[in-house]
Amino acid sequence: MTDIAIIGGGAAGAAVFGELLRRPNRQGTIHWITGCIAPGRGVAYASRDDRHLLNVRAAGMGLFADQKDDFLQHASRSLGQAQGGDFLPRRLFGEFIEAQVNAAMSEAHARGRRFQVHHAKALAIHRDTAERYRVELEQGEALVVNAAVLAIGALAPRTLKTVSAEALGSGAYVLDPWSMDEPAQAPRRIVVIGTGLTAVDTLISAATRWPNAELAAVSRHGLLPFRHPDRPVAPYPFQDDLNTALLACDGVLPMMRLVRQALADPAGTDWRAVIDGMRPVNARLWEGLRVEKRLQFLRHVRWVWEASRHRTAPASAENIQALIESGRLHIHAARVLAVEGHGPLAMTVRSRATQLLSTIEADRVIQATGLDTAVAYARDPLLAQLLDDGLAIPDPLQLGVAAEPDGQLLDAEGRVQPGLYGIGSLLRGSLWECTAMPEIRAAAGRLAHMLDKPSEEQSEEAAAQ
Ligand SMILES: Cc1cc2nc3c(=O)[nH]c(=O)nc-3n(C[C@H](O)[C@H](O)[C@H](O)COP(=O)(O)OP(=O)(O)OC[C@H]3O[C@@H](n4cnc5c(N)ncnc54)[C@H](O)[C@@H]3O)c2cc1C
Repeated sequence: MTDIAIIGGGAAGAAVFGELLRRPNRQGTIHWITGCIAPGRGVAYASRDDRHLLNVRAAGMGLFADQKDDFLQHASRSLGQAQGGDFLPRRLFGEFIEAQVNAAMSEAHARGRRFQVHHAKALAIHRDTAERYRVELEQGEALVVNAAVLAIGALAPRTLKTVSAEALGSGAYVLDPWSMDEPAQAPRRIVVIGTGLTAVDTLISAATRWPNAELAAVSRHGLLPFRHPDRPVAPYPFQDDLNTALLACDGVLPMMRLVRQALADPAGTDWRAVIDGMRPVNARLWEGLRVEKRLQFLRHVRWVWEASRHRTAPASAENIQALIESGRLHIHAARVLAVEGHGPLAMTVRSRATQLLSTIEADRVIQATGLDTAVAYARDPLLAQLLDDGLAIPDPLQLGVAAEPDGQLLDAEGRVQPGLYGIGSLLRGSLWECTAMPEIRAAAGRLAHMLDKPSEEQSEEAAAQ
């Protein structure tokens, strides 16, 4: 009998839960500990703002790895029509996840599959015996399971060290761009810290919500995500050769050389095809890098990789471009040295180009620095307990928890924890590219397959029947 707890009510948790529900009947109960009341949407798909678009085309999105067109069909029914190449609102994908999970639950229920959804947070996981874990939930409930999957997403945003306590307490500094309150007075100057995908959506929302506000965004390189082409482009004809050569490289520099050559190849179609074509080998490339090479990548390549790999939908890019061209939005390549004051706030920055210091004043500063996976600094009670008890350890580069590529967590002795798994952002240290739906749904399928393997006990029972 295998009882399984899936911890986390975002898309990754939904994918693992749904995959397990869809499998042939086994004994044991599947527990989904969602931590929230609208499970499935998580951070990314809870947005109600239809200008917040998916950054993956409709044809690439889905919850279950083997159901390729389900999201597109759902979107077509919902909108009247949709094409595989469209970038649709994130809200729609949230609705789709809910519908998929509800359908999987009804079908599993009809088959007599046992499952429970707990709208509570998991606070601790203890090893009960060598093969069982005790998962403690809010309000004193506890579950004893054979396996637990951490699908808790990225960490809650942490205030940047450069923000003074006064600024933080002023109400003018917004730590979480997805839950912004309405200020008493419409802000006239807004500064967003960050220029990645979260910052793009934050700027688009702020521009509409406060139509008279001047906007600025600051990041070290001042680089906005590149945009997707309007329509899908043909694959790079020599992608397989390129990927094989990349896998044979020893280190980041030779990899970069090969990628640059491919980007400049006159036989290529569009540079974005080359980057996308690396997707199937990205995790293996990362796995093949020693820690110091990974560090080299993080220091020198990450900023441009992120902008090239995690691109923005064309409509979002056009929105931002229009704001820049109208003079409403200024992008600064600068390091934030201090955010002070009690409203308006004064932000001291050092320009990347000139190294000169300057001050930007703002009625509102919004932190939109994206994914944080530095678990050692997390205030999350579950992670803190797992680290304190040695059931998990931080990845050496603070990119989540240390884990095997299949998601099994490593303990403080570096041993694999049988039955304790992670999925999604927490595994950045071992997989690097593991945060978007195409990777998450594939990982969920593999994980469900591993978790659903009949135990020896089940095999013996089956043999005896
Ligand atoms: C704004 C934004 C837009 C994105 N857009 C796209 C996109 O268009 N396409 C794409 O492929 N990817 C996109 N992504 C990437 C995104 O990370 C994944 O698609 C996916 O949503 C990740 O889901 P998750 O479940 O891993 O994490 P999350 O969405 O963060 O969900 C984690 C959940 O776990 C819960 N939780 C945390 N701790 C506990 C606990 N102790 N007990 C119980 N529950 C807990 C949280 O409350 C949360 O509900 C986007 C990400 C963001 C932030």
